[in-house]
Amino acid sequence: MKLRTAEIVGAGLSGLVAANRLAQLGWKVRIHERNAELRMFGAGIWLWESGLKTLETIGAYDSAVANARAIKDWQIRDGKGRILMSRRADDSDRLLLPPRADLYQALIDQAIKHGVEIVTSSVAIGAKPEGGIIFEDGSETSADLVVVADGAYSRVRESILGTKWMDFGAQVGIRMLIDEQEGDIHDTLIEYWNGPWRLLYNPCTDGKNYIFLSAPVDEERGRKIPIDKSLWIEKFPHAESLIHRFQESGRWDRLVNVKCRKWHEGRVAIIGDAAHAMPPNLGQAANTAFINVMALAKMATESDHIPDALRQWEQQQRSITNHVQWWSYLYGYVLGNWPTSLQTLRSDFVSAISKTEWFDESLNRGARHVPAGYVAPTARLTKY
Ligand SMILES: Cc1cc2nc3c(=O)[nH]c(=O)nc-3n(C[C@H](O)[C@H](O)[C@H](O)COP(=O)(O)OP(=O)(O)OC[C@H]3O[C@@H](n4cnc5c(N)ncnc54)[C@H](O)[C@@H]3O)c2cc1C
Repeated sequence: MKLRTAEIVGAGLSGLVAANRLAQLGWKVRIHERNAELRMFGAGIWLWESGLKTLETIGAYDSAVANARAIKDWQIRDGKGRILMSRRADDSDRLLLPPRADLYQALIDQAIKHGVEIVTSSVAIGAKPEGGIIFEDGSETSADLVVVADGAYSRVRESILGTKWMDFGAQVGIRMLIDEQEGDIHDTLIEYWNGPWRLLYNPCTDGKNYIFLSAPVDEERGRKIPIDKSLWIEKFPHAESLIHRFQESGRWDRLVNVKCRKWHEGRVAIIGDAAHAMPPNLGQAANTAFINVMALAKMATESDHIPDALRQWEQQQRSITNHVQWWSYLYGYVLGNWPTSLQTLRSDFVSAISKTEWFDESLNRGARHVPAGYVAPTARLTKY
């Protein structure tokens, strides 16, 4: 069979996973990144079974999680310290938390090993359904498969009329790494809620822990950088020792939701945040992108008609993605919109519902999904 070519726009996590998997399945792959350098900011990332199985399949698992903490429990606690949810993880239902930079570097290194060509300072402005990319400098390229992975604010998505709507949400998020201190917990994520405010403590790696803060978008002090530590101490007095260690700066994001009219047109497929950005409440957006990429690569490889394969791929993957996106939205709604005068009722409600099997299955459906084409490793770095 003739060597098939794939051109990918965007060397973020989704684009790099796609590059790895396609190259591994025998495609000639080139990935275009608009930035001059491949660089990742300082934060951690939750990797669930679905994401970890993807990394195992493409051979990036060991280096991606070499320094990650293994999480045994994800807890939500209210302003009074009451545990509202406890979501356990173990060796067959894993949650690992590496620094993002480790994951990113592992994907780059593995892509190079798989023979992927990485082109930096290459800015795409559009895609052609017959299989092509148009660049800002006026040049064009063609391929059997074009993968659009240029993030939530995708410019290329619009060239195939993919965008249905973008919802900028009512919350902002700030991410940072802080220095570890003696006595810090190593295996439990603790998510503190106070009204619509959230402080999420994540054990991450030796010497560093990861903090995620979210605040209502109209609260100026909450979204301020440098971070207003006195405000956060006021909201979360029991986390004062963490807050004193906050950095002056951090990565600030609007928590955005993206829905597409379609994920494909002809030979062009949209993946990752460009296709389905969601608020990070479940820590599953990138993991969901990974399972979609695994299915895309398998179906495109096994088909001799790419447009048909992309149509079937979208049909197959939409429902799991919509589910995760909906749950992520719902979770954020309960956090951000519940009336402040009824916090005890919210605590009672979350505490009761989180113990049901229905909740467990719904919250974790994406996280536990086995990616198409998963290849189990013969030996695995044990983290639990
Ligand atoms: C606060 C927060 C916490 C999160 N935590 C988690 C978590 O714990 N677990 C999880 O699974 N997910 C998490 N997510 C979501 C996850 O970070 C994203 O889903 C993931 O990073 C998206 O990757 P991507 O490659 O699709 O997009 P991006 O990361 O946005 O990458 C897009 C790439 O394309 C490049 N690019 C853009 N435009 C062009 C162009 N025109 N031409 C060429 N290149 C271009 C960009 O420079 C970039 O490198 C979180 C998100 C947020 C906001």
